[in-house]
Amino acid sequence: MHIIRVALDIPIDTLFDYLLPGASTQIIGTRVQVPFGKKLVVGVVIEIAANSSVPLSKLKAATHVFSDIPPLSIASLDLLRFCSNYYHRPLGEVVMSIFPSRLRNVKPFIQKPNTISWFRLTNAGRIANTSPAAIRGIIRCRLLTLLNKSDVIKDSEVKKLGLNAFKILEEFITLGWVEKIPNILISPVTISLEPTLTLEQELVFNTVSAEINRFNTWLLHGITGSGKTEIYLRLISLQLLQGKQTLVLIPEISLTPQLEGIFRKRFPTSILINLHSRLNASERTNGWLQAQEGKAEIILGTRLAVFTPLPKLGLIIVDEEQDSSFKQQDGLCYSARDMAIFRAKYTNVPIILGSATPSLESYYNAINGRYRMLRLSSRAVTNAALPTVRCIDIRTIKVKEGLSETLITSLEKCLSLKQQSLVFINRRGYAPVLMCKSCAWMATCQRCTSRLVVHLREKKLRCHYCGHEELIGHACPKCGDQDIAPFGYGTQRVETALTEFFPNARILRIDHDSTRKKNIWGGMLKDIQEQRVDILVGTQILAKGHDFPNLALVGILNSDASLYSTSFRAAEHLFAQLIQVAGRAGRSDIAGEVLIQTRFPDHPLYCALHQNNYDSLTKILLSEREMACFPPFTYQALLRAEATQISTALDFLKNAAATAIPFKYVEIFDPVPAQMTRFKGMERAHLLTQSTSRKKLQEFLALWYKKIQMLPARNVRWLIDVDPLEF
Ligand code: ADP
Ligand code: ZN
Ligand code: ZN
Repeated sequence: MHIIRVALDIPIDTLFDYLLPGASTQIIGTRVQVPFGKKLVVGVVIEIAANSSVPLSKLKAATHVFSDIPPLSIASLDLLRFCSNYYHRPLGEVVMSIFPSRLRNVKPFIQKPNTISWFRLTNAGRIANTSPAAIRGIIRCRLLTLLNKSDVIKDSEVKKLGLNAFKILEEFITLGWVEKIPNILISPVTISLEPTLTLEQELVFNTVSAEINRFNTWLLHGITGSGKTEIYLRLISLQLLQGKQTLVLIPEISLTPQLEGIFRKRFPTSILINLHSRLNASERTNGWLQAQEGKAEIILGTRLAVFTPLPKLGLIIVDEEQDSSFKQQDGLCYSARDMAIFRAKYTNVPIILGSATPSLESYYNAINGRYRMLRLSSRAVTNAALPTVRCIDIRTIKVKEGLSETLITSLEKCLSLKQQSLVFINRRGYAPVLMCKSCAWMATCQRCTSRLVVHLREKKLRCHYCGHEELIGHACPKCGDQDIAPFGYGTQRVETALTEFFPNARILRIDHDSTRKKNIWGGMLKDIQEQRVDILVGTQILAKGHDFPNLALVGILNSDASLYSTSFRAAEHLFAQLIQVAGRAGRSDIAGEVLIQTRFPDHPLYCALHQNNYDSLTKILLSEREMACFPPFTYQALLRAEATQISTALDFLKNAAATAIPFKYVEIFDPVPAQMTRFKGMERAHLLTQSTSRKKLQEFLALWYKKIQMLPARNVRWLIDVDPLEF
């Protein structure tokens, strides 16, 4: 009999003691099934204990010890423990959150054998007239095309061709045209010498590869199109050669298809798995297990992937490290980038943070020598140059349906040259406001502090925060006037206007609404790349990472709105976003141009953009932050509370503040309502604490967290958000 301490997904910050009958080796990190209340739940054994604060006679026994997958390693548990301590969340919740749902189930997971079969054309197949032109049937043709163009193909590729593809493959094998080959004959990874690295790339690659087997945080600051991906690929191949795993973290799923395609093409025989939230349960579980067993060599995923067990981890890459989607905004408010850095340090492997616009935090760390800076300052493709950026002063130029004459003329020119253009407006829907012209009433959400967005095609008003929908009424509910109308612009309205201006152009709108359906995005990307689209209209989904070689013009609408936001990070984020969008233009030998419609053409942010000077603006922003004592010069944490009444949330925060022990170097501010006070029917408030010392802040939080847990918190939901991004 042992006493085991088990982490359960229960919102109480403690481990739970159980008895474990029988002897056991390697029990730590293993999933167990235990009774909890009237239910059976799954947990992970964290410790073996000599005794328990619960009398032995009252301890219950674990009902099952899972042996379906290997236990979590000590390294994994250390990472999770660090995460739980740093973000002040119960260890059980952190530990259980990393498992795919199938592994949180009380039933054991039955693994399907995950072997890959490889096939290739035989000499006979090559000699026989297997040119697709001579073959009937679409799947037959596709299969032969695939076989002809690749040295080897895998069964998963065959499967993608269609239902019948395997039958046809069998047929080819019977004919002696195709053979199945054992894994060992697959040619090992080699370092591709194509494309030849630019001098800058070579310098970066050599610098990192000289220290490829030890921890360093490298900040790869490379302008858009400078070939950061190529650096990633080369470094990954170094690790593949050593039999090590690479974890690649990327912002949102929108980027996955393109990056995945590039990786698969470069490493056709390596095992790459994808881990993001749009996968179904069994896809996720299988990928996760391949990673845990050390079989998956490249793990491409969004923030949650940072916790995937990787026994042979050799390298971590965080692409677009400044992206806010790396920070979870609810529950366990972790930053995947920061966890990745901890993990790299713990494992003693290098981590690359890549970006054209590093976050101020990372940039500051790099100029202080905590991170090591690597620069790529020109575009990789010969003759490709950064686009020219120009402001269109819309105070003096005529604007029709949100589009200035200058922009319309430029779009026309692109169309006649058969080049693509992109109109960027970071607001989906038809119009952001529905307004009454006689009394100035605006449609608002009942459940959030927000305006309802007009979706004209569906004749609906929608809240983009909680999803609430209602039909557009015919009259103003306040004064009865019928003169209510959409006000302002969104992607749909711009799309409509463009269709009117350019009836013959092929226009594609890309935003959250048009890409909602699974797998539709991949097809859209293909349409763009294969020149079936003339004008793209889209939100930030389009801003990141994509390579559209024929894109010559980018028009930016409505960016002024963020210039005077109350959030101290707004300027940083806007700048990053505009650099990203602008960076879509001029990526091949077509010169690119960016036109920004603005009322403030002399704003320092637009000037920096015009000069493509990240450093100049960053210096200004950093000195502003320093004067205001904001990050990266201080470290912050928020105590967030929500309740149905704002007073309940504020009272809770006041009580919490009263229990805090004053701490040298730690400031505590008064509780205030959150910027978006009402959200999904709850009223939200927070209390800010900050310090110039991360260590002091952590010590303070650890003590305070214990006190807050003991406060009565009836009807209040609260959490601590360390290094918050949103207020
Ligand atoms: P980034 O991620 O820095 O924005 P990418 O990695 O997307 O840039 O590279 C931009 C383009 O440059 C891609 O089309 C890529 O294939 C190409 N490229 C990268 N490195 C080289 C090179 N050394 N020679 C030629 N083309 C390159
Ligand atoms: Zn009215
Ligand atoms: Zn709402």
